[in-house]
Amino acid sequence: AALVRISDLHKSYGITPVLRGVDLEVRQGEVTCVIGPSGSGKSTLLRCVNHLEKINAGEVEVDGELIGYRRRRGRLHELKDRAITRQRAAIGMVSQNFNLFPHLTVLENVIEAPMGVLGLGRAEAVARATELVARVGLAGRESSYPRQLSGGQQQRIAIARALAMEPKLMLFDEPTSALDPELVGEVLAVMADLAEAGMTMVVVTHEMAFARQVADTVVFLDEGRVVESGPPGELLVAP
Ligand code: ADP
Ligand code: ADP
Repeated sequence: AALVRISDLHKSYGITPVLRGVDLEVRQGEVTCVIGPSGSGKSTLLRCVNHLEKINAGEVEVDGELIGYRRRRGRLHELKDRAITRQRAAIGMVSQNFNLFPHLTVLENVIEAPMGVLGLGRAEAVARATELVARVGLAGRESSYPRQLSGGQQQRIAIARALAMEPKLMLFDEPTSALDPELVGEVLAVMADLAEAGMTMVVVTHEMAFARQVADTVVFLDEGRVVESGPPGELLVAP
């Protein structure tokens, strides 16, 4: 079944159209890599899926729910903030720049959201966070501060933090493009493990080897339109 269903999505900034009728489906448990030139709308597409941007036309549906709207008697009604917060809590997002809280330890960074948003008790949140820190290969670093970690380690913690919310869907916006080249592999390895474990993922990336090995579907975006999509074996040339 499709976990994400995007149909005829249009998004403009002012009068500038950025997404011009995007159709996309992501099935449960599958990885979709979105590839395209700078400015083609990749980041905007992700931002529309988790309601960081309002869309102008079309529909974005995650797990059977329209993002930002509900349908009643055939008409669309905007959701209230609380309902939008609930929808967004089920969608994990990892961006280029880690965005960890610098004054919080690794463990505190990971437990903050599940305690604040999910209302999880501290003991349970700590247990969940400790397990996730280990899962991204950083057991023992729970008390470190972000500045004491490499960029690759910080990004792995950002992934753990997103996972702490037990999301249905993970969105990655060029997760390795701000990293020194020698740190890219460790982050991609964590993402590959996550894919292997069955997480549904949409990944904007320039890492073609990752797309070829991990993606079920590759989508090429150009000037706000999907110009090609299919299995990586058919669309990406081996090196
Ligand atoms: P990509 O991720 O493919 O590089 P983006 O989605 O970031 O593309 O941007 C697509 C286009 O939309 C670019 O021309 C960018 O400058 C523009 N854009 C992105 N965000 C905004 C915004 N908040 N306001 C105005 N223009 C924006
Ligand atoms: P990203 O890493 O997502 O591509 P950007 O550096 O393009 O981030 O954008 C950072 C912020 O600035 C985002 O909130 C985006 O919406 C906004 N933005 C991007 N391009 C423009 C633009 N041309 N005009 C106004 N805001 C923009």
